[in-house]
Amino acid sequence: MAGVIPPPACSFCGALKSPETPLIAGNEGRICEACVALAHQVVCNWSRKKQSAALVDSLRTPKEIKDHLDQYVIGQNEAKETLSVAIYNHYLRLINQGKEQNDELFPLAGSTELEKSNVLMAGPSGTGKTLLVKGLANVIGVPMVVADATSLTQAGYVGDDVDTILHRLLEAADGDVRRAEWGIVYIDEVDKLARAGAGMTAVRDVSGEGVQQSLLKMVEGSQVKISKGDKRRGNGEEVSIDTTNILFVAGGAFPGLEKIIAERVSPADQRSIGFHSPAPVVEEKTSNELLPALQPEDFQQFGIIPEFIGRFPIITFLEELDVDDLLRILQEPRNALVKQYFQLFSYQGVKLQFTENALRIIAQRALDRGTGARGLRGVMESVLRKTMFDLPSKEGIATCVVDEDYVNDAAEIIVSEVLGVTPVPEPETTREPEDVCVQRS
Ligand SMILES: [Zn+2]
Repeated sequence: MAGVIPPPACSFCGALKSPETPLIAGNEGRICEACVALAHQVVCNWSRKKQSAALVDSLRTPKEIKDHLDQYVIGQNEAKETLSVAIYNHYLRLINQGKEQNDELFPLAGSTELEKSNVLMAGPSGTGKTLLVKGLANVIGVPMVVADATSLTQAGYVGDDVDTILHRLLEAADGDVRRAEWGIVYIDEVDKLARAGAGMTAVRDVSGEGVQQSLLKMVEGSQVKISKGDKRRGNGEEVSIDTTNILFVAGGAFPGLEKIIAERVSPADQRSIGFHSPAPVVEEKTSNELLPALQPEDFQQFGIIPEFIGRFPIITFLEELDVDDLLRILQEPRNALVKQYFQLFSYQGVKLQFTENALRIIAQRALDRGTGARGLRGVMESVLRKTMFDLPSKEGIATCVVDEDYVNDAAEIIVSEVLGVTPVPEPETTREPEDVCVQRS
């Protein structure tokens, strides 16, 4: 008499095989769908823990983060401190996520939910907004992506939609969804999304507000399905990215924002000078004096919708740069332009020197262009273009000196090529040039 052979069972939970409960069979055992799902969750938790541990190692104190930013961006102390604290708190919160339960150290756990510290930054173009955020991502070691708000459209319109940002973040994380979910998204030029008609400058068509709305969903935290492969061709598997823990930084030049602040701080009727009333003459304040008084409502006045502003609880500003700032930017950062060109020339066995006055003229020209530090590169290129064109086909040039000269009372920049033996000894000795030829830029 043969007994009834029982159907095979899941080796993990014991569930019997049936049409509703199919099993995957291995060499020694079997597993049901529910146990596969559970196992997947457990494994995900492992990689989160590993990621947390890695972050604990790379998280620096706000002071250390700011010191790091100092290598990339000159000045802007207020913005650096604000960003350093925001980043520190954000990752501190992520590292400790889930730790709260069953821990006497966190009596408030469960009842207190820490909000994300997204940052909204105002600052003229070329003051280093993008550099600062890149520096942050760099020091913490998380993936980061820069998106331009002006290239975004509401879903369904031609152009990039908001999902593209996450697609690129996933690429920056080498396809690792978990890393992407703890990354940083910097959205530049959000001022261009201002509602037309609001604020000082009627900036963009009506779609601007629509883009603000579609960004909102992502910033608030949502599950976004994106294709892992080539977006345009639509192939590749779909993955779901949870944006809840992504840190968002939004930035923009917000032209005219200081006028909105000025109007709020000292309304026009108080500034007018009457004949009879001895109203005090209020001096025009510079934007650098006004920006520290920046309030969220000023962004609303500018044309950013309140819901959007509400999702960026931390606001900060970058100061307008002056000639002295630009002079430092030319020379001091790790990647300073003067250092870069020095290197480029040294590859050709030529020592490149700048006089202080020449650098000042270069800084002034960039300032006149109104593009801040970003303009420096262009000015430098035009100053050195002729020299860089001629140099490789010349021989025996040891030094190039970039100096100022006066032509009809106007300051000009000249580049002198000094013949001599290469390489030049390091201590800066002013040798009598054997032969100098001068090129005007
Ligand atoms: Zn099972």
